[in-house]
Amino acid sequence: MPAILSALSDSDADAEEWRLRQDMAAVFRVAARLGWNEQIGNHNSLMLPNRRPDDAPMFLINPRGWLFQELTASSLIVCDLDGRVLRGTGALRKVAFHIHARIHLRNPRAACVVHVHPQYLTALSLLAEPALTLSHHNNLMLNDRIAIDQHGDAPADSHAEGDRLAAALGEKSILLMGGHGVTVIGPSVHDAFDECFIAERTAMYQVTAMSTGQALRRLPEDQRRRWTGPWGERVDARLHLDAWRRVLDREEPEYAT
Ligand SMILES: [Zn+2]
Repeated sequence: MPAILSALSDSDADAEEWRLRQDMAAVFRVAARLGWNEQIGNHNSLMLPNRRPDDAPMFLINPRGWLFQELTASSLIVCDLDGRVLRGTGALRKVAFHIHARIHLRNPRAACVVHVHPQYLTALSLLAEPALTLSHHNNLMLNDRIAIDQHGDAPADSHAEGDRLAAALGEKSILLMGGHGVTVIGPSVHDAFDECFIAERTAMYQVTAMSTGQALRRLPEDQRRRWTGPWGERVDARLHLDAWRRVLDREEPEYAT
């Protein structure tokens, strides 16, 4: 059961859900700006706080058929872990269900699950050996949090595949999915967003450097931080998402409606 779940009064739960919806809508809009999404595919989800102690777990996710840049706080749907739409208008995409519901179910740390196809992480995922090299300072903290899955050779279309992805992620926060894209988890919306953001930036540096054909410089192994917690604990993930929200508030304020 994700740590974010706790019993709240209805009014507190409404207020908390609305705040989380706005954060999620902001992540969809920023992801769209950064080109992380694949046409109307890709999905980000968040476990919601329980309204009552015996409530079944439920999560917030984007409905099928919408571009990330169209989504608003109120257009996200609420589903249970069996894939039923409990609230909101629209359908849950089958592949979204199999990836997200099973990772939420299997991984207590996965309050938020971001599944996207950003350019540079996805390019890395296409390589025969897609490891992140210990080359940029970001890698000193990041590399211990990345799992690489080389066995997902077809779209996730079953519980078994969702469970396999959850197991492949293990204790890590980033799953580089061979021939596919990336799934990033975090204990909050801002942590998962920030983690995906920094992983994509780091992959961008590496893929750009690799495109020169020169060998990559390697940092010394003894400088690795051996740290597996969410990146955001160290680099102000909340402040990062708040900064983006200020930009969105000015330039596309409907995201928060
Ligand atoms: Zn995908």
